[in-house]
Amino acid sequence: MYALEIDNLIKVYGTEVKALKGISLTVSEGDFYALLGPNGAGKSTTIGIICSLVNKTSGSVKVFGHCIDKDLVTAKRQIGLVPQEFNFNQFETVEQVVINQAGYYGVEREEAKVRAKKYLSQLELWDKRKERSRNLSGGMKRRLMIARALMHEPRLLILDEPTAGVDIELRRSMWVFLEELNKQGITIILTTHYLEEAEMLCRNIGIINQGELAENTSMKKLLSKL
Ligand code: ADP
Ligand code: ADP
Repeated sequence: MYALEIDNLIKVYGTEVKALKGISLTVSEGDFYALLGPNGAGKSTTIGIICSLVNKTSGSVKVFGHCIDKDLVTAKRQIGLVPQEFNFNQFETVEQVVINQAGYYGVEREEAKVRAKKYLSQLELWDKRKERSRNLSGGMKRRLMIARALMHEPRLLILDEPTAGVDIELRRSMWVFLEELNKQGITIILTTHYLEEAEMLCRNIGIINQGELAENTSMKKLLSKL
């Protein structure tokens, strides 16, 4: 079963900017996949299209077999997105941020509380649940973004540059959380421009450059070539 199937994906912004020039790739269920590439390569555009935040020009995207054109609501429910910027309400408490998110997905309040405890504990934020989210450190805010993305129990977690601008210690602790989630069976896709990060975490990797997929291989094979 594929968590993600992308076929000949093309994106032209306006009439000029060819951000994606026909990308095809698959990510298997349970995989930990890195989309690596320099700034401007097309990583965020790809993720935006998968999550239906950006309109594609052409091509097809399926999430656990659900085509985003025909089956958008079901496709979106499979995905938890962790965007780059902190986009939660900074005046809400940690607990409110995650419980409100569950509400958007129609999760019952009692169930949302159970999940809040589960995911906030797992991400070492349970003790902070009554804190206003704006008072959290940067690392805690990033973990809160992950906990929030898990509240509707997606099968695929997508993280856009989860450790950009994060110091090495914090980056390592993020890696531990992500590995643990993947072990629990959640498929993970992350974008990064750190090869080291992809190497530490990921089993498979796509390298994207100027809107084209330059490589799509296992981490092992890639490293044996370098
Ligand atoms: P879509 O086809 O997804 O609606 P558009 O081509 O309409 O995308 O562009 C979306 C918006 O992003 C536009 O308002 C545009 O001004 C803005 N934009 C233009 N160039 C860039 C850029 N290089 N990076 C980010 N945003 C940009
Ligand atoms: P990455 O995430 O790898 O840095 P992006 O997907 O953000 O790459 O950008 C790919 C290309 O598309 C770049 O040339 C960027 O300037 C352009 N681009 C991104 N968003 C927009 C937009 N909204 N409007 C116009 N051009 C854009």
